[in-house]
Amino acid sequence: SLFLAQIALNPLASPHLRKMKTDVVSMCSGLLGGDKQVVGSMTSGGTESLFLAVKTYRDQARKERPQITAPEMVLPTTAHPALLKSAHYLGVKPVLVPPVPVFRADVAAMAQAITPQTLFLVGSAPAYPHGVIDPIEALSDLALSRGLPLHVDACVGGFLLPFVRKLGFAVPPFDFAVPGVTSMSADLHKYGFAAKGASTVMYRTSELRRHQFYV
Ligand SMILES: *Cc1c(COP(=O)(O)O)cnc(C)c1O
Repeated sequence: SLFLAQIALNPLASPHLRKMKTDVVSMCSGLLGGDKQVVGSMTSGGTESLFLAVKTYRDQARKERPQITAPEMVLPTTAHPALLKSAHYLGVKPVLVPPVPVFRADVAAMAQAITPQTLFLVGSAPAYPHGVIDPIEALSDLALSRGLPLHVDACVGGFLLPFVRKLGFAVPPFDFAVPGVTSMSADLHKYGFAAKGASTVMYRTSELRRHQFYV
């Protein structure tokens, strides 16, 4: 409450807020299977977290995979529309793959949808409309076998699943503990119970996050 009205935009003007944001990201990453290498940013909401992830993979490809001239991303139709909005703004073509029953990402069909222009894959933990967790381990195997990054959208699940697991319910692996997961989004202003708007986007390495920044 003390800092709610302060502007966190400029880390040089507000080093105390920078420190606070770094602490928040580190706590989130700790809840989500991250190690010391995982870094991230606080954002204004899940929409901005997803926007930044799409931007990161687009700009990573611009640097490291110049053969990509018409970038695409492969995602289940159950993924959040903010990904489509981001793709629209950022000039990325969304390749939408219908789910298998019941509303679970179709990993085989997603494999078919990969082209040489594919930037990255998306899975949700869970997807917002149906509360179904995509098979993140299978998506991770696919991503690793094709040398592609994998974003797990845990906007609604990021601060729910770790505690559901703690209560003793079976939760399939969905976070940075899964080796092919390269980035995650998790909304503090949902089950983190923070005031709006507050979310996090996290990356497995700082090398990857570098592509998020714009100067
Ligand atoms: C809520 C949600 C978003 C979008 O987050 P906002 O904070 O509403 O911008 C994205 N993905 C999932 C899975 C969500 O539940």
